[in-house]
Amino acid sequence: MYKKKRKVKKKVIFLGIGVILFIVLIIVAINLYAHFTSNEYKLEQIGYNEKEITDILELDNKYISYALENEYDNDLIPLTSEKWFIWDKYKNYKNYIKDLEEQPTTDKIDYEDVITKVNTKTNYKYYTHTTETNMNLGNAILVNKYYSLPEQYAPDDIVDVPTTYAFEGIQTKKEVYEAFKEMADAAKEDGITLIINSGYRTYEYQKNVYDQYESANGQEYADSYAARPDFSEHQSGLALDIVTYGMTMDNFEDSDTYKWLVNNCTDYGFILRYPKGKEEITGYAYESWHYRYLGKELAKKVEKSGLTFDEYYAYYLDKE
Ligand SMILES: [Zn+2]
Repeated sequence: MYKKKRKVKKKVIFLGIGVILFIVLIIVAINLYAHFTSNEYKLEQIGYNEKEITDILELDNKYISYALENEYDNDLIPLTSEKWFIWDKYKNYKNYIKDLEEQPTTDKIDYEDVITKVNTKTNYKYYTHTTETNMNLGNAILVNKYYSLPEQYAPDDIVDVPTTYAFEGIQTKKEVYEAFKEMADAAKEDGITLIINSGYRTYEYQKNVYDQYESANGQEYADSYAARPDFSEHQSGLALDIVTYGMTMDNFEDSDTYKWLVNNCTDYGFILRYPKGKEEITGYAYESWHYRYLGKELAKKVEKSGLTFDEYYAYYLDKE
């Protein structure tokens, strides 16, 4: 009687242990399965180290998928960490990095520079890889050495600027004139006189200027002194060269007028288009007198970003 009970007890204990072992085994199996199918494990197999794996798994899903589906890529983390990184340009960044790495002078990749150059196309020579700018953007169109106006473009709302606001014979788009008038009137109240020195320039005008430089000293020289026709912001009717009486363009930078302009122009929809230190990006020497009309809202946004309009355009406006 007792013996039988003890036997049953033993059976129960064995059964219990068996069940526990089985459960433990299942758990171990699940964990192993989870490990070998985890992104961590896969990334490790691709060649990423622990630090890189942690970084990658903190990225957006599309970058994680890229890392999982491609060979080891040591540029992934540094590129995606850059503030102005654009995912759609990933291939372009990689191609440019490859070009740089093939140059014997490169010892370290400057990722910030790669991003800036590729975003603005300045990794290419000026006037190569050009496209016609997207005119649907209105005041936000980009016109530079890579983005042209439509062939022989002429705006249809050009007005004459009265000589109270400009030198003789100056024209610009109506909206730009209205904005300039508002700005010049406000400046006047602060004792500052703003005068437009150059506004809208026709295709023919720009072509003449460029051709003269070119026939005298060749294309390279012409390109460094004048924009090619259809590639000048002045032809868009959205750019103004602003000066004041009694100043040349060379010393305009030292004037109170310039200081006023730089501090106030975005309130009226203008930006200083070719800032100092950004010559490589804009493709133009620093011009303290050249202002681009963008409209108040956009001008403020560009100013706040701290970017040139070329960079801002690439990051925020260029949706191909
Ligand atoms: Zn200008």
